[in-house]
Amino acid sequence: MDTSDYTRRLVRLVEVCRSLSANLEPQPLLQYLIEVGAELTACEYCAFLAVEPDAGSLRFISAPWFKQNEMRRICLPVHESAAGQAFLSGSPVVIHDAASDSRIYRVVDAELGIPTRSILAVPVAFRGQPIGVLIAVNKLGGQDYLEEDIFILETLAAQAAMAYQTDLHVRKSREAYERVLEMDRTKSDLVAMLSHELRTPLGVVLGHALMLQETADPDSRRTLDTMIDSANRLKEIIEEFATIDQLDVIGSNLHLTSVALDRLAWQVVESFQPLAHSRGVILEMFTTKGSLVIQGDRGRLQVAIRNLIKNALMFTNSSGRVVVRVEEVPGYVRVSVTDTGIGIPPAEQEKIFQRFYQVEKHLTRRHGGMGLGLSIARDMVECHGGKILVESVEGRGSRFTILLPQNQAQAAAAGKVFTED
Ligand code: ADP
Repeated sequence: MDTSDYTRRLVRLVEVCRSLSANLEPQPLLQYLIEVGAELTACEYCAFLAVEPDAGSLRFISAPWFKQNEMRRICLPVHESAAGQAFLSGSPVVIHDAASDSRIYRVVDAELGIPTRSILAVPVAFRGQPIGVLIAVNKLGGQDYLEEDIFILETLAAQAAMAYQTDLHVRKSREAYERVLEMDRTKSDLVAMLSHELRTPLGVVLGHALMLQETADPDSRRTLDTMIDSANRLKEIIEEFATIDQLDVIGSNLHLTSVALDRLAWQVVESFQPLAHSRGVILEMFTTKGSLVIQGDRGRLQVAIRNLIKNALMFTNSSGRVVVRVEEVPGYVRVSVTDTGIGIPPAEQEKIFQRFYQVEKHLTRRHGGMGLGLSIARDMVECHGGKILVESVEGRGSRFTILLPQNQAQAAAAGKVFTED
């Protein structure tokens, strides 16, 4: 053995292995490994083959650039090839004189037009599982493969195993992500189609019911009231679904204008007075002096405030109280909705912001709703760079607080979240 040449090759091998972590793409990395393999084992070419899912054949994954297209089409049967033997035995296979060796799969020679004169095949394994083979074909100068060639190729095989596994994982995650996107698109199409198709007939039902209500006798009027309430509820559900879907699709496309939050909250409070009255709950609002204007999407902010006030009214018993406050705190405008309602158990307080989550179980619940109101409110607030918080004591009541940055720089400078003391 020429020790100085072997030392030179080992130094190169160490260099190559050290540089591999900088190369992040698995496919080019595998290509690089087979090129280095050919250089360091002094052979005509190297290639990497991976086992097929049926475990009966090995397919070329990385091959020399001048034969890549032809080789990627070829599969080697594991039971009739030197590469297959290395794969099955888990040990290197060396064939010095390949011309008359029955383990050479001649289809490759014929396809490539390169007769195999000698071959070194080493198994590639990941966590003890065989996944492929690295081969070095045709030692140059008619020489035999030596122990040092085996060592070098085995070292590169360990790197190839990592690169190939990474590639598989990346592909699988990409495919899974594509499937999720596709399902999401289907869901969005379905929601858009359903809400469109349901809105129109529902509008007709509501229109006619309202018309009939005007001329109906007291008995029929009661029936019509129930019908109209239910139809309105159905309309709300459709709107909630459509809102959620729009949020998913349009993400953070905000239509920003100057929004005076006190005025906005006041309008929402006013629109809820009839409901508050019918439930026997006092609904009031207070504001403080100061700058209560932010740059925001009026429609979305209105939905967020609406959902909080609606919940407060729904979960507060008759003779309870709901108070809405709009105030300036450093860096933020704070809108809080405090009720004297049933409260929320501590373990549920995080979960209520999840989509479709409701504290009461579906079959036993006394309140309507789809479990979407708070998740919509949170999305609406967070897309403004704001926060939504809950404090609650069971049997005493709840306070939901929305903090909206007066402007992004100010919000960052304030660096903390304020709640009422
Ligand atoms: P829903 O539209 O079903 O009310 P939300 O997402 O708005 O859905 O609320 C989720 C759950 O959080 C509600 O079902 C209720 O259990 C609880 N919750 C929300 N607001 C209040 C509140 N002010 N008081 C008590 N529980 C509340």
